[in-house]
Amino acid sequence: MAQLSDDCFAFNGPLLPVADAERLIAERVAPVDGQATATLREAAGRVLAGDVIAPVNLPPFDNSAVDGYAVRAQDLDGERDSRLAIVDRVAAGHSASHALKAGEAIRIFTGAPMPQGADTVFMQEDCRLEHGAVIVPPGLKRGANTRLAGEDIAAGAVALPAGRRLSAPDVALAAALGLTQLTVRRRVRVALFSTGDEIVEPGTRLPHAALYDSNRYLLAGLLERFGAEVTDLGILRDDEQKLARAIAAAAIDHDLVLTTGGVSTGEADHVRAAIESIGRIVFWRVAIKPGRPVAMGVIRGANSGDGSAFVGLPGNPVAVFVTFVRVVRPLLLRLSGALPEPLIGLPARAAFSYKKRKGRREYVRVKLRAVADGVVEAIKHEQDGAGVLTSLTETDGLAELGEDVTKIEPGATVSFLSYASLIG
Ligand code: AMP
Ligand code: MG
Repeated sequence: MAQLSDDCFAFNGPLLPVADAERLIAERVAPVDGQATATLREAAGRVLAGDVIAPVNLPPFDNSAVDGYAVRAQDLDGERDSRLAIVDRVAAGHSASHALKAGEAIRIFTGAPMPQGADTVFMQEDCRLEHGAVIVPPGLKRGANTRLAGEDIAAGAVALPAGRRLSAPDVALAAALGLTQLTVRRRVRVALFSTGDEIVEPGTRLPHAALYDSNRYLLAGLLERFGAEVTDLGILRDDEQKLARAIAAAAIDHDLVLTTGGVSTGEADHVRAAIESIGRIVFWRVAIKPGRPVAMGVIRGANSGDGSAFVGLPGNPVAVFVTFVRVVRPLLLRLSGALPEPLIGLPARAAFSYKKRKGRREYVRVKLRAVADGVVEAIKHEQDGAGVLTSLTETDGLAELGEDVTKIEPGATVSFLSYASLIG
């Protein structure tokens, strides 16, 4: 499905740095084939299959940016007020019936086409009226308060590039250019499982020692934000053969099979062995916390070179979120044919102290507080267990602590990634 070949990854080391995982994905995973047509109303969130070329100028004609008086700059006195006779009036959607001649002005409103001969517009607030004439002050530059044809996008230019994940403003631009539909990539098909003998579906009875499944709901929501077509395949038991059968079957008609739980080294963790029986593990431990056990692999397809991607995320919900952001997000973008969308952390002032081990990237859940001098302070959630869901629901984002960091003291600058930026 996803054109992953068995040997598309080279890495075999024990603990893969996050950047290497991202690089492997960027270099070795090919986007899915297939295109679709989306109407403007369907297009947000889809990935453009080709460049959108502007068929017309935007704006289509020179027009006024303000309500005021259209004039010829050459008629203006550089030192003193100028007095111009008002000869016409033009509102948006209409045309002036006069071309402007020497010493004349035309009353004009925002969006109205510039009358022939006019090149400059005075804002009405800057003008005085006197017996059918307008008095305008000196000092306005030629071309002021006008919008020239094509200054936004010129006909023939690339308005939106191939691989663009369409935002609402992107769709608005396509609409402004008069387009009604866009050619987009087909959606990435993702099969989703939870694993674990203790996991039960919300809405059913909660037996002793059981836990309601939250991971599938977390992931389904996240995947949909990235435009994926999600098939929710429920909960799998901790049984290697059953896992292997279910994952292999899902791989047939999905580009990516995503599971949670069962990837660490406990005796009840069978996902890794299951994948090795139906495909190949590419890496299964990443230097990331929370979330170290995260397996990526390829499920063999019927023909060589047509395997599906597999990602086995950890079981703890916060680890699921963090590894989704750092492994699944770039993989999904890549499979969907989207251009890379690097995450850019913003500086925040740590209001916490923290110790960490060198060599891995750690994510601290933080709430932001604006402090008096305009600086933003990051306050660590009091619970940092990887299973504590409220540490996600009660915070604003993640402070990302790089591999080389060993401790953070209050007042240090940390890189803040907002949830909004991570899941958009
Ligand atoms: P595991 O990696 O399978 O040992 O799971 C690690 C922890 O995550 C265990 O405490 C699990 O109960 C918990 N967990 C696993 N799957 C889920 C799930 N779908 N929803 C909520 N918690 C889970
Ligand atoms: Mg488990």
